[in-house]
Amino acid sequence: MKLTIHGAARQVTGSMHLLDVAGYKILIDCGLDYEKERSTISNENFPFRPEEIDVVILTHAHIDHSGNLPTLVRLGFNGQILCTPPTADLAEMLMMDSVSIFLNKAQGGRKRSRGKHHHHSNTASQPLYLHKHVMDTVDRFVTIGFNRPFKLTGDIELTFVPVGHLLGAAAAVLKINDNGVEKSIAFTGDIGRKNYPVLNDPEVIPPVDYLVTESTYGGRHHTKGKTVEEVLVDTIDKACIKENGRLIIPAFSIGRTQSLVYSLNKIFSSGLLPPVKVFVDSPLASRSTQTFRKFHSLLNEEAQDFYNKKGDEFEFDNLTYIENLKDSRDISNYFEPCIIISSAGMLEGGRIQDHLFYNIQNYYCTILFIGYCAKGTLGHRLLRGDPIVHIKDRELAVYATIKQTDLFSAHGDHEDLMNTVKQQDKAKLKQVFLVHGDPQSMEAFAAGLEAEDYPVTIPEKGLVYEL
Ligand SMILES: [Zn+2]
Repeated sequence: MKLTIHGAARQVTGSMHLLDVAGYKILIDCGLDYEKERSTISNENFPFRPEEIDVVILTHAHIDHSGNLPTLVRLGFNGQILCTPPTADLAEMLMMDSVSIFLNKAQGGRKRSRGKHHHHSNTASQPLYLHKHVMDTVDRFVTIGFNRPFKLTGDIELTFVPVGHLLGAAAAVLKINDNGVEKSIAFTGDIGRKNYPVLNDPEVIPPVDYLVTESTYGGRHHTKGKTVEEVLVDTIDKACIKENGRLIIPAFSIGRTQSLVYSLNKIFSSGLLPPVKVFVDSPLASRSTQTFRKFHSLLNEEAQDFYNKKGDEFEFDNLTYIENLKDSRDISNYFEPCIIISSAGMLEGGRIQDHLFYNIQNYYCTILFIGYCAKGTLGHRLLRGDPIVHIKDRELAVYATIKQTDLFSAHGDHEDLMNTVKQQDKAKLKQVFLVHGDPQSMEAFAAGLEAEDYPVTIPEKGLVYEL
């Protein structure tokens, strides 16, 4: 069989791997490549003919794994897309959200070019796909539960193993009869961390011959010693209770927001802090919270226990989910101390922009970053300590307090990545392929593995590996 890494090779985004078993072509993930988005190469340019792909396996719903599926379908892919039930629901929401982002961008581009008589390249602002393409994609979803072996063909069996990270996220483990020879390969997708609020710990991936693993946090270590609740209690106590101010938490609507809301629920219901008003200002967050309720049985034991004793993990007296724009704007007129959770996490677009616009010059405002902010984003500029930033075409001085914690990171760190490999049967494991990481992280992870005599490859994009 042949393995080709077509995306997330020596970079983080755009996961897309092709496994060819005697002519049967399996595509594992089909994510948006943000580096392409920033360049002139379009995500439309597949290095193969979409109609040649027999089946797609989707590890989880995040856009860098799922976000190019509607393009694949639009350009002729005609097979099934296999994923877990929560992944099907969340991927649909995220792909629909992508369409809104494309359309906004296209509109913004047109406005700008009219105003300044610029000639913007049309391809950059042309939506990659539309709602109807997302619907055609969702039509192809076939859901398979965790740990239930599923026959793709007489010779290929797929099992989804839970890996934490996001509700529904799975490693894809394939057992293959390749012309009479038994072979096995696992694609980790993204690997979560232990003791993450709401989610189960990653499960051990069964022994395989080949492991294609993510490497996002290779060489890096998460902060140890403090819990998510301790950090939240400290921050809220200072920002909202001692200073009587507001706390803004930019958060990704799906996954991080639910973990955050549950942690706050635990804090307030146990009386660790007096109730502080909490606004979750994101329609996508309230919609996806329904999915977390629907797949309640997949949440961790602690969350289930909380539910049995105290009720809905994602609901409490001082919490309000904001749906429409008017209510969102009304938050500016709320003068009591409060916590505002809104997206986008990196502060590029979304309702968070309004909240920052009105609060960045407020001494009694704290902004707590709980996720990664890529270079070039407003979030990155604030974290770097810029004294003046541009929001909505205005120059604003930063008087708010900026804080950050990595405790909500949904990726395992170097140690967690190493453990994923070490849990494998070393005598059986023939090769570890590193994907989904910047070159520095991959090299650090590879060095860690080589020091323990694991055979490791940092694959080159598009190169065919004969397994
Ligand atoms: Zn992910």
